Amino acid sequence: MLRPPPASGGPRVDLHAHTTYSDGILSPAALVRLAIEKGLAALAVTDHDTTEGLPEARDAAGSDLVLVPGIEISTSLGGLDHHILGYYIDPANEALKGRLAQFRSERLDRVREMAARLSRLGAEVDVEEVLNLAGHGVVGRPHLAQVLVRSGHAEDVDEAFRRFLGLKGTAYVARPAFRPDEAIALIRDAGGVSVLAHPGPGLVDSVVESLAADGLRGIEVWHPQHGPVAVRRYQALAERLSLLETGGSDYHGPGRSMDLGDLAVPFRVLAPLQRAAGIRG
Ligand code: AMP
Ligand code: ZN
Ligand code: FE
Ligand code: FE
Repeated sequence: MLRPPPASGGPRVDLHAHTTYSDGILSPAALVRLAIEKGLAALAVTDHDTTEGLPEARDAAGSDLVLVPGIEISTSLGGLDHHILGYYIDPANEALKGRLAQFRSERLDRVREMAARLSRLGAEVDVEEVLNLAGHGVVGRPHLAQVLVRSGHAEDVDEAFRRFLGLKGTAYVARPAFRPDEAIALIRDAGGVSVLAHPGPGLVDSVVESLAADGLRGIEVWHPQHGPVAVRRYQALAERLSLLETGGSDYHGPGRSMDLGDLAVPFRVLAPLQRAAGIRG
């Protein structure tokens, strides 16, 4: 059953946002300042495949806002991408740190391999330029695409993917494997709570059931990709599978996505998440 939206002016939370440590535009400190300005009661910083932005976010939050430490791990299985959020993980956990470092280095090898293929195809790209574009973030095809455009080998990013980088592109190399069940176990072992990010309107129940059997703890019910029908569906699924409900704007920066905190995520989701992580509410 659909619950009523939070009272307007009541406390709001946003449990999904990115910073310059992945592909967001704002630094962790600037993101936290914006969340405080917007009057959010809680903000989760959930950068792709890294926790390195968390100390800066925590310092900026002080006691003005509940800062929920997070990560969004890019996993895939059977040709489907699944983003797994991990809340309240211990960033010092050696297994998690080691696996993320391995993932980064495999991603780097992959970009070098795609650059070598591009060079053989006569579309030379400067790998250093690609890495500079990625900055703190995990390097990937979007950065290669931008450099292909800059260097005149493609009209635009669309063409770069169509000709070179897409699944059928001539320089395509598959992403290194990271399975969702592995991410779920790593998050659990690092003391965190795993949540399936933005399942999207089309995901079949059986995938969520299978991830729940792997130990998944929650599902992102509220997300810009989810209309009212999807929200209701995932609320019902969460109830049936005893999963926590979370939500967030997936903020990446001004003009890049829905504005921080503009998604009506009810405050009531925070306490169960904290309890699941063994944190006092
Ligand atoms: P990677 O993780 O390196 O394989 O890159 C995946 C990212 O590339 C996705 O998150 C999208 O942002 C981007 N991407 C994938 N396919 C396309 C496409 N056809 N056009 C533009 N961007 C794309
Ligand atoms: Zn992102
Ligand atoms: Fe995501
Ligand atoms: Fe995200």
